[in-house]
Amino acid sequence: MARYGNKIREDKNVLTEPRCPFCRQFFDRPAEVPTMLGFFTGGQCSCGAVYVHDPTQKDMGNAFMDALAYVCKEDWDLALSMTEDVDYTCAYLSYVPKTHTLSLKSQGRGPYEKNGNMLFIKLKD
Ligand SMILES: [Zn+2]
Repeated sequence: MARYGNKIREDKNVLTEPRCPFCRQFFDRPAEVPTMLGFFTGGQCSCGAVYVHDPTQKDMGNAFMDALAYVCKEDWDLALSMTEDVDYTCAYLSYVPKTHTLSLKSQGRGPYEKNGNMLFIKLKD
C-alpha cells in the first residue's frame, strides 16, 4: 500500500512559507534594489541567491537579466557569458505579496514559465 500523504503535506507546509528555494531561510519582502541601470524589485538572501519579483509577470525576461547581473555584481559581460545549470541555478516561484507567502499551485522553472512571478538565481560554487 502506498502511503504518500504525509510526505506531500510536509512539503506543502514548507513551500507556502516565504523561504529561499536554495537554503530554505525566510526571505524579506521584495524591495527596490538600486542598480547601475535603475532598480529592480527583489532582494538578496544571506546564502547569496538574488531574487526578483515581477508583479505583472509580463517582464520576467528583464527581471531575469536584472537578477543575473546583480548576482554577478553588475558585471554584464560575465552575466551574459553564463550558462544556466552550469554557472548558476534558477528557481521560479509564485509569490503572493499581499500575504508574503508562496503559492504552490504555479511552481515551475525556466525563463518562459508563465506562472512564476518571482525568480531566484544562485551562482554555483
Ligand atoms: Zn538562500
